[in-house]
Amino acid sequence: MSVSDSINSSLIQNWGDKVILVVEDVDTNKIFFDAALRKTKATILWAKDGKEAIDLFRDNVVDLVLMDLQLPIMDGYTATREIKVINADIPVIAQTAHVMSGEREKCMEAGCDDYLAKPIRLQILMDTLSKYLNK
Ligand SMILES: [Mg+2]
Repeated sequence: MSVSDSINSSLIQNWGDKVILVVEDVDTNKIFFDAALRKTKATILWAKDGKEAIDLFRDNVVDLVLMDLQLPIMDGYTATREIKVINADIPVIAQTAHVMSGEREKCMEAGCDDYLAKPIRLQILMDTLSKYLNK
C-alpha cells in the first residue's frame, strides 16, 4: 500500500451498522456533513439545538455524537454535559468555529472526547470518526 493509498483509505468507510447524531444549526454545515457521511451508510440523526440533541440521544441508541458548540436554545457544552450523564461511554466530538485559546480546554472540561476546528476538512473528519467508530 502506498502512502497516498493509506491517507485516502479513511475516506472509504462502511458504517452501515452505526448511528451518528449530528448536532448542527447551520444549513451549509449540515450539507457538508450529509455529503461526507452519506457514502458511509451510517444512520444520521439530526439535531438543530442542544435540547433536541439530548432528546434524540435519550430516545435512540447512538454510537457517536458530532456536536456543534454554538447552538440556539442550549449550547453544545451544556448538551455534552447532559449527554455524558446519560451515557459517558459514547464519544462526543466537538466542532467549533471559535479559535480562541482555551476553547479546547473548555470542550474537554465539558466531557468532549475530541475537537474539530471549522472549517472542517473531509480527511480530518473521516480520520477522527474512524478513530472512534472503527474499534
Ligand atoms: Mg452553530
